[in-house]
Amino acid sequence: MKRVTLIPGDGIGPEIVNATLKVLDAIEVDIDWEVVNAGRKAYEEEGNPLPEDVIESIRRNKVALKGPLETPIGSGYRSVNVTLRRIFDLYAIIRPAKYIPGLPTRYTDIDLILIREGIEGLYVGAECSLDPYKHHSISIRYMSRDNCKRLISFAFRYAIAHNRKKITLAHKANILKETCGMLREEFLKEARKQDRILAEDMLIDSVVAELISRPSKFDVIVTSNMFGDILSGVIAGLIGTVGILPSANIGNEYAIFETAHGTAPDIAGKGIANPSAMILASAMLLEHIGLTEKANIIREAVKEVIKEGKYVTLDIASKLGTTPVSTSKMAERIAEIARQKLEES
Ligand code: ATP
Repeated sequence: MKRVTLIPGDGIGPEIVNATLKVLDAIEVDIDWEVVNAGRKAYEEEGNPLPEDVIESIRRNKVALKGPLETPIGSGYRSVNVTLRRIFDLYAIIRPAKYIPGLPTRYTDIDLILIREGIEGLYVGAECSLDPYKHHSISIRYMSRDNCKRLISFAFRYAIAHNRKKITLAHKANILKETCGMLREEFLKEARKQDRILAEDMLIDSVVAELISRPSKFDVIVTSNMFGDILSGVIAGLIGTVGILPSANIGNEYAIFETAHGTAPDIAGKGIANPSAMILASAMLLEHIGLTEKANIIREAVKEVIKEGKYVTLDIASKLGTTPVSTSKMAERIAEIARQKLEES
């Protein structure tokens, strides 16, 4: 039996993680979960938001499913999400975004994969103020050529393996000539080697404008860390709710699966969060460990429940003008349909 690290997380984390386990149980996924705590809970109980047993567990198991972890704004401990990516060298963050029929959105022809750099850029934490009064501050945007190279190479391989037709680099190399310039150079080098996929590079502002007016233009987008974070928000808006956007942090040896959204403190503890992003993240995990059939069953079940529109949480029900159900009710319906699909298969 495969052993996988499970981090319930903060805010809505435990609610959506429990909901996900219900779905995985329903389709008899053979995983031995090693539960460890990180984030706010670990910080309050142990004085450390990323205790050593969490790191050891992921190092042993190589794969983790992680609920969102709280990152204090402005001060306090450093982001555990970012630290985990750096410790485990998770240089590629994959976010697949696809229109789901039944969910009211501005466009119905969205089917794209965002690949965001995961360990460098503005996330390296090299910040300081230049004077004791904190009137002047700097943040350093660090990038290395080796990391650009492997990110670009990964993105092309991933796009081709998933039968994608086009890959777009989103950058700002006209202003950030060194960092974005280096990423673009590596992208163009790789593009020249590939004839199985169309490659284009675009300024980040044009990418955002095009995404909002004509999202079907995009297939796979690869970009740097902070630009990728912002593009995730745009994409979440385009597909109707951040509650359905999963995320996979991938490195050469380790992988951590999570949601693209955060801890949603405004709705935490109310049992109203959409569990779909976490459930779809678990599908990405299953695919990663070779359980592709079960991963597809989960994806189909989520799609069907949203299309059916009767057992959906507030974020979707408010768009449909229907009565929402709780996180666990939506998960139960997804589990029920997934179980039926497993029996039929
Ligand atoms: P964090 O600081 O952890 O990033 P945040 O509130 O800044 O938290 P998100 O958690 O991504 O950022 O939440 C952004 C908005 O999306 C909030 O209004 C939140 O309620 C909503 N949201 C996030 N996740 C879900 C979900 N699974 N279901 C429904 N709404 C969600």
